[in-house]
Amino acid sequence: MESVKFCPVCGGLIEKGFLFCPYCGRELVVRASVSQIIDPSFNKLARAAVKKSMSRLDTCRRTLDTMEKELDEFLFERL
Ligand SMILES: [Zn+2]
Repeated sequence: MESVKFCPVCGGLIEKGFLFCPYCGRELVVRASVSQIIDPSFNKLARAAVKKSMSRLDTCRRTLDTMEKELDEFLFERL
């Protein structure tokens, strides 16, 4: 039995290997698989970038906390 699939646009039955849907003319190949190759690495990059800026933000917050505490102590000593 020949392998077949369905057109994502019109749902027509298509033999595998067809480049275009014979019913609606939709291009069936490649572009999707290209983005499937690109997407995972792009997602990884985006996640790494988010993680990086999050940890930078964390460092900033910790530094701010420390400064606040030091300021409190400084003011408390003056009073
Ligand atoms: Zn179609």
